[in-house]
Amino acid sequence: MKSEAVNICSTPHSQHSTLTDTPLLIKERKEFSMEKIKMSTPLVEMDGDEMTRIIWKMIKDILILPYVDLKTEYYDLGLENREKTKDQVTVDSAEATKKYGVAVKCATITPNAERVKEYNLSQMWKSPNGTIRAILDGTVFRTPIVVKGITPYIPTWTKPITIARHAYGDVYKNTEMVVKGGSKAELVVTDENGNETRQLIHDFATDGIIQGLHNIDKSIASFARACFNFALDKKQDLWFATKDTISKKYDHRFKDIFNEIFENEYKDKFADAGITFFYTLIDDAVARVIRSDGGYIWACKNYDGDVMSDMVATAFGSLAMMTSVLVSPDGIYEYEAAHGTVQRHYYKHLKGETTSTNSVATLFAWTGALRKRGELDNIPELCNFADKLEKATLATIEDGIMTGDLALLSSLENKTKVDTETFLVEVNKRLSAML
Ligand code: NAP
Ligand code: MG
Repeated sequence: MKSEAVNICSTPHSQHSTLTDTPLLIKERKEFSMEKIKMSTPLVEMDGDEMTRIIWKMIKDILILPYVDLKTEYYDLGLENREKTKDQVTVDSAEATKKYGVAVKCATITPNAERVKEYNLSQMWKSPNGTIRAILDGTVFRTPIVVKGITPYIPTWTKPITIARHAYGDVYKNTEMVVKGGSKAELVVTDENGNETRQLIHDFATDGIIQGLHNIDKSIASFARACFNFALDKKQDLWFATKDTISKKYDHRFKDIFNEIFENEYKDKFADAGITFFYTLIDDAVARVIRSDGGYIWACKNYDGDVMSDMVATAFGSLAMMTSVLVSPDGIYEYEAAHGTVQRHYYKHLKGETTSTNSVATLFAWTGALRKRGELDNIPELCNFADKLEKATLATIEDGIMTGDLALLSSLENKTKVDTETFLVEVNKRLSAML
């Protein structure tokens, strides 16, 4: 399988070498067998597990290495190497991302009890994504890849909706209690001098429940800046919503911090970019999202983001068509697919059966990272390559050639279900014609 991939990569060059040498063809051949695109700064490459690890190598071999003189600093986040390095490799890869600014990550196994047995682990290592997020202090943006033939359940959504989820606090770091009837529950805050402020939560005549939540101004501000920066980057409007009419202190604080940062730091930049920041109540936002045609970024508090990202992903069609990027407040980017390691397909692959696993989200993680590297290092050819690779991918699906998951969803009349590798080879046919 591997050698086949390599042969296919060299097709454009071998095709040209069989032609008669006219001056034009010699010139054309020069341009075609053009120097591979050079990179000046390495990408941080985080390899992963199972089926996505197989896809990772295919994408590089078939679609990237023939065209780009790829510079990466490679970190193997596969579970075996995480075990071998006592998970130090995950920390190192996040530190390297801080240093270079852009990473591309393959899906990785988050160990559970079963995986501890399967891989004979000395510990139930933490989720790499959690570790990386904690080090980079980022916000995760999830965007569906929109393609003709896969119609969202909301037919007016013709442009993608990106969900930005705040990843700290609220109900995810709560303290809760069951309360017996006859109890009085109070909120008590003790300041650094030992002074107490008390507020009654409820006098319980009968049994009930209470919950304590918190968030931190600094984290909300980081979240706000990550959203404003991402909106400028994408040249898309930013929406934000909370329930500040009911939660006059807690949710209102989110609203105030967003407004303050916008007024002081981003108002002019947004005006120059021709985009807007729009705040509304969460229930109003939900209604407007459904009526919209998409094409904006929707910033959500932690819980809203958890719920709404699953809703938006499902409504757009498929988890395998959802990209994800972690953006830190100081402008560091880590690109990945939103789906996992596609374990069931991997076990089939191990048994020697053909798989039809969708590589699009992983491919878009690579194009996102290469484009960002091109922007930061001022290498327009790299940005152009990323654009064309995305176009070639969408063109392949719109030509009716797709993996099984999409074949089930696509409304195209003529469609062919292909295996994992054939899909990438078909993308390469279109890519090499475009370059
Ligand atoms: P998953 O890998 O996302 O797959 C769930 C199912 O969704 C698959 O069995 C498949 O359905 C379908 N699917 C997902 N991606 C697909 C693709 N690219 N092409 C075709 N079908 C696709 O989730 P999981 O099985 O729950 O988790 C597997 C492992 O991934 C776990 O160890 C988990 O810890 C890890 N994980 C990692 C990340 C990450 O690194 N960001 C995220 C989530 C999960 P069918 O089987 O019906 O074809
Ligand atoms: Mg969820």
